[in-house]
Amino acid sequence: MNTLNIISDRRNIQDLTSAVTAHQDPKSHKLAVKIDVLTHYGEGKLACVKCGFSDVRALCIDHINGVEPTEFCSPIPRGGVPLYNWLMRDGFPSGYQTLCFNCNIIKAHVDYDCYK
Ligand SMILES: [Zn+2]
Repeated sequence: MNTLNIISDRRNIQDLTSAVTAHQDPKSHKLAVKIDVLTHYGEGKLACVKCGFSDVRALCIDHINGVEPTEFCSPIPRGGVPLYNWLMRDGFPSGYQTLCFNCNIIKAHVDYDCYK
């Protein structure tokens, strides 16, 4: 084995170690799931489907037709990491979209008149 192969092998091991460490880090794993889910429901982009805003810290999953009263007692999570995990495990069911928090609040005002 020559010097270049040894250096290359060491880099591969470092890359592999970093990847494994990142995968084992719960925060990294949660962020990876969130990004995958938001990208899927963002029509292939990590962005709000209404305005295109793309800061992941201010993106969320919107129930397109709202939360049905029966869903309040359902085991389906309503938001956050539990919802992201459920959407991924359930094969990305329809009825959801990625919105930024501004568009989500505006939609709530327009659709449900809940803030008047
Ligand atoms: Zn938006």
